[in-house]
Amino acid sequence: MGVLSDLRDDLKFFGGFKLTFEHLTRPRVTRQYPEEKQPKQPRKHGRHVLNRYEDGMEKCIGCELCAGVCPADCIYVRGLDNPPDHPVSPGERYGYVYEINYLRCIHCDMCVEACPTEAITESKLFEFSFTNRADAIYTKSELLVDDEGRPKKQPWEDWREGEDRHTSGWMRATSPSGSAAYEGEVQWSGELGYGVRVPEGGQSGRRDDAKTGTLALREVLESHLLAEDIPFEHRGMRGRLWRAQLSAARNRKKLERARGRLRDVRAGRRSARTASGQDSAVGGGRR
Ligand code: SF4
Ligand code: SF4
Repeated sequence: MGVLSDLRDDLKFFGGFKLTFEHLTRPRVTRQYPEEKQPKQPRKHGRHVLNRYEDGMEKCIGCELCAGVCPADCIYVRGLDNPPDHPVSPGERYGYVYEINYLRCIHCDMCVEACPTEAITESKLFEFSFTNRADAIYTKSELLVDDEGRPKKQPWEDWREGEDRHTSGWMRATSPSGSAAYEGEVQWSGELGYGVRVPEGGQSGRRDDAKTGTLALREVLESHLLAEDIPFEHRGMRGRLWRAQLSAARNRKKLERARGRLRDVRAGRRSARTASGQDSAVGGGRR
């Protein structure tokens, strides 16, 4: 009896590895940045952009609410009356000076929530590799989207294929009045280059991952989501099988790439040997 209970106590030690073993079958979420980039969260708080309406007019009306609400005191705005013959914004005034100091910004998005015209939103661009204070202060010319509605690329930003598609992402944290009944109801104006953005719909199953560009992200991070946020067919044992198949497909691709590289190396060596053989043949002929 004593021996058995001792053995049981000893085996309890392996219980500590339960979580480790569970994670062995899950896909890895670690990426080799900067070679590989992780798909970005729909509400990622990156650097800001100042948006325009679909007709090209600036959305900012220079009301300074964003500067007033900012807890880090890092926004500086000055409004000016719109010139009557060529107004910059549809309002009475427009943002004449707009600066954000990224040495202070904590990316809380209070400015985005406070803005009455959705002029300021946070993009998913997160690279801030500046080396001096002046570069850390983004001015209006850097923050305002270009004539096609795309953010202006800073020298230290590393954009990959497709990353410009969701840079003016919808950043409102809540539906109107925080009520789930409004979920999926569009409450915002269209913007240059994007039109009216699709609602994220993250609180219920009424989400459209394909339209909001979050499909890739959900596939990668699904093992970290709440059970109710995971599609039925990816839960439990079925989910484990699906994840194992996903990992196997990834490994097959890696193997294919490695084989391709090996083939290239061999082909290179063969052609080098053939070339040197021809050279020696020509050399021999000359002699
Ligand atoms: S995200 Fe927060 S800290 Fe940054 S500018 Fe906006 S309100 Fe200020
Ligand atoms: S960004 Fe919005 S809150 Fe800030 S000054 Fe412009 S309109 Fe007002």
